[in-house]
This record gives sequence, structure tokens and C-alpha cells, in this order.
Amino acid sequence: MLSYQQARELVVSRTTALLGKAQTESISLLNALGRVIAQEVVADRDYPPFDRSIRDGYAVRASDTHPGATVRCIGELKAGDTPTVSVRPGTCIQIMTGAALPAGADAVLMVEHTQRSGDTVTPDRAVSPGQHVVSRGSEKSAGKNVLTKGTRLGFAQLAAAAQVGTSQATVFRKPRIAILSTGDEVVDFTSTPGPFQIRNSNSVSLAAQVKTLHAEPILLGNAKDTHADLRAKISTGLESDALVLSGGVSAGKYDLVEPVLREFDAEFIFDAVAIRPGKPVVFATCKGKPVFGLPGNPVSTMVTFDLFVRPAIEILSGAEPAALLLLEAVVAEGMQEKPGLTHFLPATIEYGEHPRVAPLRWQGSGDIIAMSRANCLLVIPPDRETINAGERVHVLPRGL
Ligand code: AMP
Ligand code: MG
Repeated sequence: MLSYQQARELVVSRTTALLGKAQTESISLLNALGRVIAQEVVADRDYPPFDRSIRDGYAVRASDTHPGATVRCIGELKAGDTPTVSVRPGTCIQIMTGAALPAGADAVLMVEHTQRSGDTVTPDRAVSPGQHVVSRGSEKSAGKNVLTKGTRLGFAQLAAAAQVGTSQATVFRKPRIAILSTGDEVVDFTSTPGPFQIRNSNSVSLAAQVKTLHAEPILLGNAKDTHADLRAKISTGLESDALVLSGGVSAGKYDLVEPVLREFDAEFIFDAVAIRPGKPVVFATCKGKPVFGLPGNPVSTMVTFDLFVRPAIEILSGAEPAALLLLEAVVAEGMQEKPGLTHFLPATIEYGEHPRVAPLRWQGSGDIIAMSRANCLLVIPPDRETINAGERVHVLPRGL
């Protein structure tokens, strides 16, 4: 059986192979948080655009600052001012952070390192040439790359784009991810279930997980466990950029997702991965789209989305799939799990210098409430049956 790493690689390679011509849109930077940029952003001028003082102090000739020397202050420059006066030997100009270094000066003496009496400034230490100055073009010279196509725009990338004059960004269109739950027992989460029915929580978690990736969930509701209903709704789902189903992929008599996908000529890439929860997870390509059949147990659905659907959506978004971020932590208590599978257990991690992780009591992969109290998944590799308290383990942290 495939390891989860092998399965992820298959998701990445097969989804990449399906990519067609990407569609883009132009949006304001203020609306672009989390989106993937579809253009290269280059510096419109040198950065900094001038030799910039990064301290409040005096623009000086470094050679004038030897111990015992005094310099005469002949002017003042604040941020935004145009320097008009040059610094000649034995003189200095008072300068503020962000102002341009005047001609003749080659360093800034911090105001804290001076005594002043009238126009006379006495340095209490020497500065070296270039000190407290960021020279023109040293961050980036005009025309050079600031953001590469395919970069996801976080606050710092947005600021970089804004700095170089990109007010509208060309970004990749959000991929539309169809979400379809299955099961005769499943009712909409807004309605009251009968005694043996359950509310559709999977569509809610899946839509939220899609949104954390800045993609657009398309909610198709729930399909009954019949060929006809599944066929109709899968057909609609295949109009989106990807289709994510939950439920109906185990070995039960009414687990019909795979048979119905076969009717659509799906090519199955895998239909089992050596993990728990989530072992019967299905990945197929169908009509040029990636299709995922996630096991219906809610924690399995959430975990398999993060492991396998996430990289596919990242690729469909125009980004590089992010590597799984595995942290190390010391486990608070011993555990015993079935070997041969990688286990992903809801757990709580306390961050700090020596992160500690504790598994949560749970009733297995249907236990949504335990999952809602977890802030990470504790990873137990397939070659381990027993983990002792105090051992180092891997942890997959979770955001929202
Ligand atoms: P299945 O994978 O269809 O065999 O479902 C496994 C378990 O997950 C069953 O207990 C289902 O009732 C439950 N389940 C399936 N779909 C959903 C859903 N959309 N929301 C909440 N639980 C579900
Ligand atoms: Mg089912």
C-alpha cells in the first residue's frame, strides 16, 4: 500500500499534468491577500531610491569622527527633503531616519553618540564609512525581480508589490472546488435529523478547508447512495476545477463512489493509502479534473483533505504545493498503535522552547468534537508500534 508521502507525490505529479491554460484576473492589492500572483513584479526604480539614513543623527564624513574631533553642523535634512548642501571636511548635517544622505557624507553618526553645543557636534565614538546608511539599489536595483510568478501574497509580499508601484495585481483565478457529500443518512446541517440521521458536517469542514487555501468551494449538497443520484451530482461536480466527495469509498454494499466514477471513465491513481484515519482515500482523474473520494468519517475527511487535496488545490491555484510542515515535540504520554500505518492523532501541542504534545482522548475518526479541541495531529510512523512518554515525535500543526 502507498505511504502518504508516495500518495502526495502522485497527487502533485498527476494534478500538474492536468493543468491547462491558467485564467487570471486583475484585482486591487487590498483584496489580494492569499491569492497567487500570475505576473512577475519588478522594481520600478532602485531600492532604496537614494542612500538612506537609517538612524537619527548627523550625516558626516567617517574620517571626521576620530576621538577628540568636533564637527560643525551646517544644516538639517528630514525624510522627504531634497539634499542641497554638501558635507565638507569638518562639517556635518543633522539627518533624520529615512532622509537621503547629502553629497560629501559617507556615514551617519547616531545622535545618541554625540554631544552638541550650539553648532558644534562632538562625537563620542568613531563611525566607519557606510555605517547607518543603506546605499541606493542595495535592496534591489531598478528592473530586477521583486516577486516571482506563482508567489502567494501574504502581507509582506503585498507590501513589496505596493512599494514598487503595483496597485492592481494580476492573480490566478480562484479554482472552483466542487464539494459533494454522500450518504442516505446525511441531512443538511441546517435541518433537524431524524433519530438515525446525521447532519452534514463534512461539507462544512471541506468548504472551510477550501477557503483557507483561498479557493472557491462550490457546495453540491448531499447525494443519496444510489447510482442515479451520485451520477447526476458527480456530473455537475466535474464542471468545476476539481471534485471532492466525502463518504461512500469503503467496502460497504452502499459505497458507490468508485463504481459511479468508473462509469465516467475515471482513471484511478490510488484507492488506499497506509494511514489511519483515512485509509480508503481515493484519488482519480476524470474528464481532465482531479477527483478525490475522501472517507466519510469526519476526522478522516479532514485529515485526508489536508494530506492530499490541499496540494492539488495549491497547484490548481498556480502555486507550488507547500511541503508538509512537521514539527518535533516531546510526547507527554506513551501510546500504542497498529504498525504498518502512519497514524494522525488529534492532539494538543504547547509551543515554547521545548514543545510538548499530548494526544486527546477520542472515540476514533467520527469524533469531531475531539478534533475541534486539537491544534495539531500527532504523527506516528508505520514502523512504530509503541511510543514512550518523553520521546520525540512529529507533529503536524493546524491553523484555522
Ligand atoms: P462512509 O465513508 O460513507 O462509510 O461514512 C463513514 C461514517 O461517516 C458514517 O458514520 C457516516 O454516517 C459518516 N458520514 C458520512 N458522511 C458524512 C457527512 N457528510 N457528515 C458527517 N458525517 C458523515
Ligand atoms: Mg456512506
